[in-house]
Amino acid sequence: MPNEKLAELDAGRFSEETVDELLRRSRRSVNNVLRSIRRPEAALGVVKSPLGDLLVAVGGHGLLLVHYLPADKELTALIVRLRSCFDPVEDRQTVHEVGAEVTKYLAGAAQALRQRVDLSLVTTSFQKRVLHKLQEVPRGAVVSYQALGFLAGAPKGARAIGNAMHNNPVPIYVPCHRVIAADGRIGGYGGGRERKLQLLRSEGFALGKADEKLPDGVVWGHKGTRIFCRNDCRTTARVDRTKIMFFADPGEAEHAGLRPCKICRPDRKSEASPDYSLPGDP
Ligand SMILES: [Zn+2]
Repeated sequence: MPNEKLAELDAGRFSEETVDELLRRSRRSVNNVLRSIRRPEAALGVVKSPLGDLLVAVGGHGLLLVHYLPADKELTALIVRLRSCFDPVEDRQTVHEVGAEVTKYLAGAAQALRQRVDLSLVTTSFQKRVLHKLQEVPRGAVVSYQALGFLAGAPKGARAIGNAMHNNPVPIYVPCHRVIAADGRIGGYGGGRERKLQLLRSEGFALGKADEKLPDGVVWGHKGTRIFCRNDCRTTARVDRTKIMFFADPGEAEHAGLRPCKICRPDRKSEASPDYSLPGDP
C-alpha cells in the first residue's frame, strides 16, 4: 500500500479507494482460507450393473463408495460419513464410468476396474490396513478370513477381519468377495451370497448358483514356499492354512508367480479324469 494511503488511514481519513485497495489486497488470503474451509466435492449417483443398482461416490482422489441398493442402515452410516467430509454433487458422467467398468468386469474383462480407490470413508487404521492387504489378493484367487488376518498382522482376528469386510465402503474394487471361510465354504457377503458367487464366477471359479464350497478344481497356493498344489495333494492335509491362497485353476496360480508341486503335479491334467476325445481329434 502506498505510504500516503496509510497516512490517510492513520489520520482516520478514509477514502472509498483505500477500502477498495484493502479488499483487493486481502482477496488472495481470503480465498485461501475459503478453500481450506470448503469441503472437497464428490460425485454421487446411482448406476446400473449386472450386480443390480449401485450407489456410487467418486471424489478427487478416487472412488469412495460403491453400495448395493436398496438402501439399508449401513448406507445411512456411510452417507453421514460421506457428507461430513465431502460435498456431494451430481455428476452423471463420472459415476456412469464406474457402472460401465463393473459391467465390463462381470463380462470377463480382467482389467476393467480402472478407478483409483480412496479409503477416506474407512474409520479405523486397522480396517484400512486390512483393506490394503486385501487388495493384494489377485483376481482368480481367494483367501480365508484367517489367512487375511495373518497377512494384516492380526493372526487371531478372524472376527475383526469379518467386520472390516462388512464395513468395506468400496466392494468389488476392494475385493471383499475374495474372502471365504477356512474350510473352503463360500461364506457370507455384504451384498448377499448370490452376488459373491456371481463375482467369483466372473473371476474364473467354476461355481454354480447354489454352490456352498469352492469347486474341486481349485489349487492351493502356499505364500511361503510359492508352490501350488492340487486340492487332493497329500501335503495339503498338514499345511498351515493361514499361509494358503486358493486359485481358481493352475493357470491363475502360475500367473501369480507360483510353481507347481512336484508331488501332485497340479499343472498336469488329472489322471483320474476320463479322456473323452475320439481318435483323430486334434
Ligand atoms: Zn502338491
